[in-house]
Amino acid sequence: MSEPDVLIVGAGPTGLVLALWLARAGVKPRIIDKLAEPGTSSRALAVQARTLEFYHQLGIADRVLARGRQVSFANMWIAGRHVARAELGAMGAGISPYAYALIYPQDEHERMLIDALAQAGVTIEREVELTALDRTPEGMVAHLSSNGRRSECRPAFVAGCDGSHSIVRTSLGIGFGGGTYEHLFYVADVEASGATMNGELHVALDATDFLVVFPLKDEGRARLIGTVREDAGGGAPRDHLSWNDVGRRVIEWLRIDVTRVRWFSTYHVHHRVAQRFRDGNIFLLGDAAHVHSPVGGQGMNTGIGDAVNLAWKLASVVRGGASAALLDSYEPERIGFARRLVATTDRAYRRSCRRCLERSSCATRRSGPFRRLPSSTAIARSAKGMPAPCMPATGCRGRRHPRMPPIIFNR
Ligand SMILES: Cc1cc2nc3c(=O)[nH]c(=O)nc-3n(C[C@H](O)[C@H](O)[C@H](O)COP(=O)(O)OP(=O)(O)OC[C@H]3O[C@@H](n4cnc5c(N)ncnc54)[C@H](O)[C@@H]3O)c2cc1C
Repeated sequence: MSEPDVLIVGAGPTGLVLALWLARAGVKPRIIDKLAEPGTSSRALAVQARTLEFYHQLGIADRVLARGRQVSFANMWIAGRHVARAELGAMGAGISPYAYALIYPQDEHERMLIDALAQAGVTIEREVELTALDRTPEGMVAHLSSNGRRSECRPAFVAGCDGSHSIVRTSLGIGFGGGTYEHLFYVADVEASGATMNGELHVALDATDFLVVFPLKDEGRARLIGTVREDAGGGAPRDHLSWNDVGRRVIEWLRIDVTRVRWFSTYHVHHRVAQRFRDGNIFLLGDAAHVHSPVGGQGMNTGIGDAVNLAWKLASVVRGGASAALLDSYEPERIGFARRLVATTDRAYRRSCRRCLERSSCATRRSGPFRRLPSSTAIARSAKGMPAPCMPATGCRGRRHPRMPPIIFNR
C-alpha cells in the first residue's frame, strides 16, 4: 500500500467529517478505526447551525434536515414553575438559515457520514488500531495492529480524532488538564407521554435534581438527561445502575409518564482541554483535544468545527497550492475556541447546579469560584457554534488568521 498524505485515526464524527472534506477537496486520506462497527448509541443529539452550514457546503445538509427533527422552542422550569419559553428561530434570525436546534442522534448521523464518505470513494479500515507513533530521521511512523497482525504506516500528516482517551495525544505526552464533576449523570432514550412531550426542549431544575428533555423524531419518544440519585445502587458499580436509580422529582413535576426505556447509560462529565493541538505534522481534533459538559450540546459540533478548520488547510497544503505556514493557524484558532467553550459550559453547568454545589454534591474535583452566567451574546454565539472573539488567554488576540474560502462542493 502506498503511504498516505493524511492518516486519520478514529472514525467518529470528527474523523468522518475530516475525511469527507479532504476527499471532496481532492485528497484521499487513510482512515482507520479500532472498532469493528460504528457506534450504536444515540449520544450527541444536537446538530448546531454552524455544522449545518458546513454540511450545506458539502451538499449533505438536506439529508440531515430530512432525517432530523427541528426544535423551535426551548422552555425553562425552576422548582416546578414554568419560567421561560424562548423561540430559537427568533434568536438566530439573520445569523443563520438554520435558526433552530436540529435533533439527529449520533449513531444515525455517523451512518449518514459513512455513506457520504463511501460515495466520495473512501472506505474506513475497521479493526485497525494505532498502537504507537514514532518520529524517526526519515519521518513519522504509525504502528498499527489489526487482529494481531502488526504493520507500519508513514504518512506525511496524522490527525488524532481518536476520542478522549487519545493514543495520539498520550504518545506525544500532551497534557489534558481540567477536571471531572462528581455528580453522576444518566442519558435515557424513552417512550413517554405527558404535556411536556410536545416536541419542544425542556430544561428543569430544582434544589437537588436536574432534567433536560430533548424530543426525538418519532412522536412520543424523547432523550432525557438528568442526575442519578446520590443514594442510588448502594455503592454498586456504575454499569449496574438502571432507570430505577434516577432522580424522579423533576420527572414527576414535568408529568412525564415513561412507558419504556430503550437505552440507558450513565456518565461522568469532564471538562478538559489539551495543552497543545499540534506537534509538527500531528494534529489533535474533537474529543481527543477537548471534552466538556453537555450543556449547549456542543461536543460533537466542536469536533466537526475542528475537522473543517484543518481539512481545507491540509488540502491546500497537500495539493501544493499553499505554504505549510497555513497550518500554523489551526492550533490558535481551535484551542482558543475550545478554552472559551469549556469555560462557558463550565459556568453554565455550575450555574445550573448551584444549589447542588452549595451542598457540594456537584462540585468539580478541581475547585473553583462560582461565576456569573455568560452574557446573552456569548450564549447566542455559543448556541450557533460560532467562535467567540479570541481572549487574551488563547494567545491569538490581534492576530489575523487566514479565512476559509467560500467553498461549495459539487453534489
Ligand atoms: C453517553 C454520551 C452522551 C453524550 N451526549 C452528548 C450530547 O448530548 N451532545 C454532545 O454534543 N455530545 C455528547 N456526547 C459527546 C459526543 O458523543 C462526543 O463529543 C463525540 O462523539 C466526539 O466525536 P469524536 O469523533 O471526536 O470522538 P469519538 O466519537 O470518541 O470517536 C473516536 C473514534 O476513535 C476510535 N479510536 C480510538 N482510539 C483508537 C486507536 N488507537 N486506533 C484507531 N481508532 C481509535 C474509536 O473507536 C472511535 O470510533 C455524549 C457522549 C456520551 C458517551
